[in-house]
Amino acid sequence: MIFKKKKFERNISLTKDVLDSILSYCQMKHPNEAILILKGKSKNGNIKIDGLVIPPFNFTGPTFAGFPHSFLPLDMSYIGIVHSHPTGSAEPSVTDLHNFFGLVSLIVKSPYCDNSIFAWDSSGNPIPLSIE
Ligand SMILES: [Zn+2]
Repeated sequence: MIFKKKKFERNISLTKDVLDSILSYCQMKHPNEAILILKGKSKNGNIKIDGLVIPPFNFTGPTFAGFPHSFLPLDMSYIGIVHSHPTGSAEPSVTDLHNFFGLVSLIVKSPYCDNSIFAWDSSGNPIPLSIE
């Protein structure tokens, strides 16, 4: 994938298995938003995502998705969330940035193909994403 801004040192990598799981979960939830917790490791700015968790008590609709953070177990491998945008762009909304969780936010837009997924930091800047 090509990003215009190259100055970010952070890099996200995602296994193909995790990508496929995200995409099929989003398709299943369509036309509502889907939300999942990302599990992985972060080292020297390189974030490796290798697992997914369905958040407890999550609530979703066509234009929102969330979960009560207070129900989450304290787990250091929870490094961010992924959610879908059934309509519109993959850019984070003001609400998304306000509810930022962890180090990274992945957003998948419809039609949920391999090129529909984007990574963002807590300021709404894009982070390069690679699939392994
Ligand atoms: Zn959103």
